[in-house]
Amino acid sequence: QTIFVPKEVDATEARVAASPDTVKRLSGLGFSVVVEKDAGAGSRIPDADFVAAGGSIGKSSDAGKADVVLKVRRPTEAELKSYKSGAVVLASMDPYGNDAAVAAMAKAGISAFAMEFMPRITRAQSMDVLSSQANLAGYQAVIDAAAEYDRALPMMMTAAGTVPAAKIFVMGVGVAGLQAIATARRLGGVVTATDVRPAAKEQVASLGAKFLAVEDDEFKAAETAGGYAKEMSKEYQAKQAALTADHIAKQDIVITTALIPGRPAPKLISAAMVASMKPGSVIVDLAVERGGNVEGSVPGKVVTTANGVKIIGHLNVPGRVAASSSLLYAKNLFAFLETMIDKEKKAVVVNPDDELVKATLLTHGGKVVHSNFAKAEA
Ligand code: NAD
Repeated sequence: QTIFVPKEVDATEARVAASPDTVKRLSGLGFSVVVEKDAGAGSRIPDADFVAAGGSIGKSSDAGKADVVLKVRRPTEAELKSYKSGAVVLASMDPYGNDAAVAAMAKAGISAFAMEFMPRITRAQSMDVLSSQANLAGYQAVIDAAAEYDRALPMMMTAAGTVPAAKIFVMGVGVAGLQAIATARRLGGVVTATDVRPAAKEQVASLGAKFLAVEDDEFKAAETAGGYAKEMSKEYQAKQAALTADHIAKQDIVITTALIPGRPAPKLISAAMVASMKPGSVIVDLAVERGGNVEGSVPGKVVTTANGVKIIGHLNVPGRVAASSSLLYAKNLFAFLETMIDKEKKAVVVNPDDELVKATLLTHGGKVVHSNFAKAEA
């Protein structure tokens, strides 16, 4: 069978869904791997490295020969037209609110897998694109903040005097937040963090940061069985805002990462809180693509407020460290694809009864098959 790895159509997407390592592994399993010319350019992977790994270099129309397509983003209408019916396509499909796109994939007859729906169970940890990409986003958020912050982060005691350490507050400590804490600590910041899930408290402490939260009865019950946060009540939100307002006013850098599955991002920082911060302070809103945690953050922009606070709203933050994020993303896709490979037939076989397939398969055999999207039927 043939596996095709396109150059992403979206010009702002620097990542690629294969690495020399995964191409080598797939070739070793008996697949012919075709990588589109310059697909790895944004991730600093030259075509020659894919060739050395056993792949060959092709053009976008080679998608038509592929039994499997490995992608970062959901295929566009034009891409769908070039795929053969029955092709297996793995990507971050971003299906919520995009029923028409899901229906189009069903109509194209592809087996479309939404990698972001991979269950967060031990067996699937190596396939978890949300974690691998959020981890790098958390890291990059601190790097982006440091670049906009016009002072040093660590305390420096020198013969010429002392530079104080930056105070850094991380709001939301899932995968991205934990990495943001670790990175901020490595750069010498004095780090505090908050979350609504009690489990986060110990994790924050283990990274050497201080935990700050309203720890009432609602907090004790805020974690769902899946490990995610619930949407908090208005009362809780008011208590949380009261607790964090004074703290935020004293911070040099605030990084927000708070998300609630299937809901808009919770608003954690009001315009008044932003206005209370010192000029030159920096806020990074990692939730900006999901509505934002910060009042005044703008998707894709660095905004400077009237009082001189910079609010960073970069899109696709993992894509800002594409050379690193592509390696992990490629490995996630390989790990999942490998579970579907029949090693004797040297072919990918979709078993709709498999637990991981059930969780991720959006469309199959011309139909929308995922329970969350039954309505998206063409
Ligand atoms: P996420 O991206 O959904 O949310 C980021 C963080 O925001 C979460 O910690 C959440 O509790 C927090 N948050 C939500 N509302 C908030 C509010 N109002 N105020 C402050 N914080 C708020 O989270 P994630 O990174 O996907 O992680 C979710 C969970 O999954 C965590 O418990 C994590 O440890 C777990 N996880 C498990 C595995 C695994 O077992 N394989 C892998 C990755 C993550």
